[in-house]
Amino acid sequence: MIIGHLPAGCIVSVWLFPRLRHCGVGFKAFLLAGLLGAVAPDIDMLYFHWVDHRQHHHHTYATHFPIVWAALCAISIAWWLASKRTGRATLAVVFSLNGFIHILLDSVVGDVWWGAPFFDTGPFALASVPARFSPWWLNFMLHWSFGLELALVAGAVVAWRLKGRLLLGRGGTALPAHPETRRAPLKGTSMQIKFSSVMVQDQAHALRFYTEVLGFEKVSDIPMGEHRWLTVRSPDGIEGVELVLEPMAFAPARTYQQALFDAGIPALAFITQDITAEVQRLQAGGVRLRGEPVRMGPVTVVMFEDTCGNLVNLVQPGG
Ligand SMILES: [Zn+2]
Repeated sequence: MIIGHLPAGCIVSVWLFPRLRHCGVGFKAFLLAGLLGAVAPDIDMLYFHWVDHRQHHHHTYATHFPIVWAALCAISIAWWLASKRTGRATLAVVFSLNGFIHILLDSVVGDVWWGAPFFDTGPFALASVPARFSPWWLNFMLHWSFGLELALVAGAVVAWRLKGRLLLGRGGTALPAHPETRRAPLKGTSMQIKFSSVMVQDQAHALRFYTEVLGFEKVSDIPMGEHRWLTVRSPDGIEGVELVLEPMAFAPARTYQQALFDAGIPALAFITQDITAEVQRLQAGGVRLRGEPVRMGPVTVVMFEDTCGNLVNLVQPGG
């Protein structure tokens, strides 16, 4: 196989990523590991040219032994399962799987010693390419197997164009396709997400907690009868997005808030790029945390109480 390895790595990686998307690894790193795996066995060409001086077929080196790649696949899958699907183990899986596929593709017309190093089965190839022309690669280009290589290139182009449908969301994190998103999108909305709200037992207390303890800034404070239209924003947050500190004038709201709190379900979530520093800051401010930050797939999460009747999830995306 001459040009088919990288396209095959692209096809396999684009196909596999949505299936392993919960493993805390971004698409770029995943694709890079897959592409490296797809060409990794051919690293032995360096040894072939510079050390062995073309004395032996490079498929007789350990880098082209099927059992080596099968073992790497088995070890990385075992690591992946044992480590509860961490990002590094996921990269090892896609790397070694593509390495094994490289050996399968080499077996189409390039000799592969499938019994090595334990059994002397000799080289195996699905078809042999007669040496009629010079240079050597012309024989391969005029053989039917080159059609397979071209098909892999075409497949990679198709996979690359379809990848947008598989990888929704920012930062290369794929999300499962929602039935609603299968429809053609309605383009050009002028609607913006501006407010998110949280119910609070006492607005004055909530304003103090969200500004003085959490460090948000007050944006609006408009009297509305016995309550206020009260909003805060994060100084480092997304421009224009405000959190509404909603009064609980509606009795069922109290029941709902209490039920969420009792069940340990967060009423809202904030993100941070440094959860460790944020936890230290909250602890210094006397905020009650529910346990330590824990890794959950692609995010690290800890919950704290907002003293207004809610649990808040603090989330750090990525590793
Ligand atoms: Zn090879």
